[in-house]
Amino acid sequence: MTDWDNIDAGEIAKFESMAAYWWDTNGVLKSLHDINPLRLKYIDDRSPLYAKRVLDVGCGGGILAEAMARKGARVKGIDMAEGPLQAARDHAAWGGFEIGYRQSTAEAFSRKHANEFDIVTCFELLEHVENPTSIVAACARLVRPGGDVFFATLDRNLIAGLFAIIGAEYVLRLIARGTHQYRRFVKATELKHLAGEAGLTCRNLTWMNYNPFTKRYFLGKTGRVNYLIHFTKSF
Ligand code: SAH
Repeated sequence: MTDWDNIDAGEIAKFESMAAYWWDTNGVLKSLHDINPLRLKYIDDRSPLYAKRVLDVGCGGGILAEAMARKGARVKGIDMAEGPLQAARDHAAWGGFEIGYRQSTAEAFSRKHANEFDIVTCFELLEHVENPTSIVAACARLVRPGGDVFFATLDRNLIAGLFAIIGAEYVLRLIARGTHQYRRFVKATELKHLAGEAGLTCRNLTWMNYNPFTKRYFLGKTGRVNYLIHFTKSF
């Protein structure tokens, strides 16, 4: 399989169509804005971001990338959707952040930039590709020995399917219909295995839960749907 085979044109088109609304905190990507403080804190607590060289894989319009830059990290972001990348560049320029945004796959980028980053983040991307294995392997190549890799994705089990698709897309309308395909969800156990094969050791698994009554997200030791996972690369 080549790098380009791992891109689903339909998925990229979906994100292209959201470019103009990426930074609308009450728009189609509201949920990404809502979860951002939690995921930023998770990363920063486990590997302080200040002055670190960080690569955000599948950065989209830069919600996470820019928040990490605000913490003092030296951030680069890659994505395959040009519209969201432009939204990311415009937003960073407006806020005075120097973030290098480039159109690339993780696989292609990893060939030229192996071991270059202290931290690699890849959030809400794995559930949108056919072959998560090659992206996980690319993230492992990109991080330096001893560095940290963080993923966030959706676990594949019946409860997750019900909550993430029926609940979030249809009942609560937290995210746009058609955002997710159940078969692409990645079980935490599978991700640990894939990452292990790529030379990464799991340090922590934390679940991100949503309370529909308070309309708030919170992190916990248990959960079934969204998770954050932290790995380190051995020396
Ligand atoms: N990580 C960001 C955006 C998540 S949305 C955040 O959490 O805030 C998923 C992003 O992944 C989209 O911007 C989409 O264009 C990108 N994407 C999907 N498939 C990709 C691939 N194969 N390579 C790089 N980016 C991809």
